[in-house]
Amino acid sequence: MAAKPVEYNATITHINLLTPTLGIFRVKPDEPAESFIPGQYVILGLNHEEKGGVMRAYSIASPPYLHNEYFEFFVRYVNHPTSDNPLTHLLFAAKEGDRIMMRKRIQGHFTVEKTMGLEDPRLRVLVASGTGLAPFTSMVFEWYHQLGHARNSAILYGASYPTDLGYREELEAVLNRSEHPRFLPSISRPHEAPEWDGLTGRVENHFSPEQIGFLEHQLGLPEGGFNPENCTVMICGLQGTIANTLTSLLYRGFVPADRKLRRVFGIPQEVKPTLFFEQYDTTPIIDTKDEAVVAELVERLRAAGVPAGEGAKAAG
Ligand SMILES: Cc1cc2nc3c(=O)[nH]c(=O)nc-3n(C[C@H](O)[C@H](O)[C@H](O)COP(=O)(O)OP(=O)(O)OC[C@H]3O[C@@H](n4cnc5c(N)ncnc54)[C@H](O)[C@@H]3O)c2cc1C
Repeated sequence: MAAKPVEYNATITHINLLTPTLGIFRVKPDEPAESFIPGQYVILGLNHEEKGGVMRAYSIASPPYLHNEYFEFFVRYVNHPTSDNPLTHLLFAAKEGDRIMMRKRIQGHFTVEKTMGLEDPRLRVLVASGTGLAPFTSMVFEWYHQLGHARNSAILYGASYPTDLGYREELEAVLNRSEHPRFLPSISRPHEAPEWDGLTGRVENHFSPEQIGFLEHQLGLPEGGFNPENCTVMICGLQGTIANTLTSLLYRGFVPADRKLRRVFGIPQEVKPTLFFEQYDTTPIIDTKDEAVVAELVERLRAAGVPAGEGAKAAG
């Protein structure tokens, strides 16, 4: 039976395909939309002729100051969807002028306001792979518009090829304004892009014990300075990026905000979080049922001076 169709209330006004499977889509609601906080997301919906309606969450990539003009979304066409009516297949078949549903209610707590706070003076390290960049473009473009600077933020951004780097020029303009560039894209398939002279490898690899020293140097931090005293971290994207960044940063004493991980690691409530993430897929971040994995990660926290392990146990 076909799913209930969604009711269209907005128009796709502009489509910019970076590649056939990666695009920036502008949507203008029929009625003036409410503003939002950078980092939030909305539900978009489309109808398939036979299969009916489908709705999915998308981070808003554009800054709030443009909300009366349009909302922008950075979307990847999913080659191997898990549903039988994937939204991305409908979206990538759409043309400018086509209709779409954008739910009025704007959602989400992955905002600086709801995490470390806007006034936190530490370097804010924003880590993304692929379309996980979206919340961070909204943040830095808004701050730059309001303040003329990006609130002490750096973006580390992983993509397969240079052509997959969305918003590259705009981010360079906003973030690379001092001696130490704060827009650090990393390409995981550099052998297919001989002209690339920036960072290489998956973005999460730059946080490994072997590579973090180089990252510190790039960011203008002293040796050992990538720590919770100097930095906070926000990560957005798929499980692999989040898990590998997080587990590497436990060595440096970064404390996740995620309630389940805190419980499993036995982190006391009073220990303030310094690492926040938003996940686009549903794969568990780590296998919290594996006692050996949990014990090893707790040990990393303890070695970094975090009072973890009190009552820690693998999730049953
Ligand atoms: C809060 C939130 C915000 C999101 N924001 C964005 C966004 O800004 N841009 C975006 O492209 N997606 C985003 N997503 C994912 C999005 O909601 C859909 O899951 C995705 O577009 C796939 O939908 P689908 O119907 O085409 O495929 P489905 O049939 O639902 O297939 C799901 C499969 O797609 C994979 N997948 C999901 N998202 C991605 C992705 N971004 N890149 C590669 N594979 C993916 C999953 O691992 C899963 O295997 C977000 C998800 C959440 C929960």
